[in-house]
Amino acid sequence: MNSVKEIAKEVKLISGQNVFACYQCGRCSSACPMTEEMDLLPNQIIRLVQMSDDAVLSSVTPWICASCLDCTIRCPRGIDVAKVMEAIRQLSIRRGIEKREELVRNFKEMDISFQLKKEDIEKINFFMDDEKDYSGKIRVKHFLEVLKEYGFNKIRNYVDEQIGIKVAPYYGCTLLRPEEIGIDDSQKPRIMEELLEAIGMDPVSFPMQTVCCGSYNSARGIKAVETLRKKILESAKREGAELIVTSCPLCKYNLKEAMYFTELMEMALGGARHG
Ligand code: SF4
Ligand code: SF4
Ligand code: SF4
Repeated sequence: MNSVKEIAKEVKLISGQNVFACYQCGRCSSACPMTEEMDLLPNQIIRLVQMSDDAVLSSVTPWICASCLDCTIRCPRGIDVAKVMEAIRQLSIRRGIEKREELVRNFKEMDISFQLKKEDIEKINFFMDDEKDYSGKIRVKHFLEVLKEYGFNKIRNYVDEQIGIKVAPYYGCTLLRPEEIGIDDSQKPRIMEELLEAIGMDPVSFPMQTVCCGSYNSARGIKAVETLRKKILESAKREGAELIVTSCPLCKYNLKEAMYFTELMEMALGGARHG
């Protein structure tokens, strides 16, 4: 029982999260896009951790979690559920319970590929030696932020003609979560709508525009990713969208029918004519 008790303690140590603040409202589970493939819902996982029940270490749920943070931003108790999932994964590896083989194999493969590309690594290290030390003072901006700062109104002046296509902006995760680095309101973002208006498109917001597409799991052939993809596209089409646009290359790859926002800008601004 003692070692079992350690589960709650260790999860707290690894994740920094106080799972005892959870009052089982279930909002994390209703927000989670991956529940179809999970054996336990996110709120049930939290409950098992509260009880230090070692069944949590054998659950498939933490491995299906796409780390999209949808649960995290919705938890009224401020629990970072995604961090708890990560802690459980780490704990189950440490205890040799789940997926150890798969992970060890992956690390081995990484190691082999690094060995095969030894000369590349030497080149990188040589290059890095010439660089100034990174002082940590660079502010990283998304290109959408740069455009907003430049002024969407100014961009409007370069538009050849109002194309007027109904375009649904899909935000997914990367622009909005974690909230500390998100570039817009995590639940009601507007930045892509503003850009679309500026370039003469007709933006169409839709209910699933901030739901994770689960692409993290697509390489593993998880069925839920395909279901999610269809749901996102249908949600946009139901609102009358003729096109879906994204700012994340992986979302674009995963959704298949989406365009990248800069492709739309090229359409609207006349491509090379304006440089
Ligand atoms: S949203 Fe937060 S409080 Fe609600 S069940 Fe999930 S972890 Fe618990
Ligand atoms: S991070 Fe995303 S996939 Fe993972 S439990 Fe939370 S909502 Fe579900
Ligand atoms: S591809 Fe985009 S929406 Fe999908 S999981 Fe990654 S960031 Fe999230």
